[in-house]
Amino acid sequence: MASVLVVEDDQFVRSALIRHLTDAAHTVRSVGTALEALREVAHHGFDVVILDLGLPDLDGAEALKMLRGITDVPVIVATARDDESETVRLLNDGADDYLVKPFSVEHLQARLGAVLRRAHGRAAAPPPRELRVGGLAVDLRRRRAQLDGRELDLTRREFDLLAFLAGQPGVVVPRRELLSEVWRQSYGDDQTIDVHLSWLRRKLGETAANPRYLHTLRGVGVKLEPPPGSPPL
Ligand code: CA
Repeated sequence: MASVLVVEDDQFVRSALIRHLTDAAHTVRSVGTALEALREVAHHGFDVVILDLGLPDLDGAEALKMLRGITDVPVIVATARDDESETVRLLNDGADDYLVKPFSVEHLQARLGAVLRRAHGRAAAPPPRELRVGGLAVDLRRRRAQLDGRELDLTRREFDLLAFLAGQPGVVVPRRELLSEVWRQSYGDDQTIDVHLSWLRRKLGETAANPRYLHTLRGVGVKLEPPPGSPPL
């Protein structure tokens, strides 16, 4: 049972949706415009939003973007067009799933169930407290890091950088992503990152020429991984 916001201007489709959802024991509120939808999500907590892309006031992609600006509630977009590139774009823009009209009750329930399960899984997984990569231990709550049992003396930024990379060991993280996730900037020069990387590297007791944990892939990005011979992750 979930609380669902239906955003649909077609009275016929809207009544049918409300009936199906209510029959499945969900609680439903419904509106017919994007602006009303924004007002609703600002004032009520929903488990999922079903968003018609053909609304009278705002273009569907625009409506989705504005919703995403204020909430991360799962959104299922309902479109009349079976247009793959459009769908991919909407999923990239923050939609969680989509339905192509006309859709069956079974289809609706399957998509709704999948989105709710995913959202539930996200909420249920507790955030990790400690990350371990080889001999490196990063305590996220105390914001402390140790290498082979030795405390590392890191600045705030060095810690953030190390924690971000240790959260995805072995993954090459593009510089652009480091800039937006660690520095919270959408632009900046590579030198800032290089300088912090070289400080961090020194504190880890390694050099760019002889990397152990921290690997720079020129022109691509940076990855952190356990040195060879470490126990598996
Ligand atoms: Ca419509």
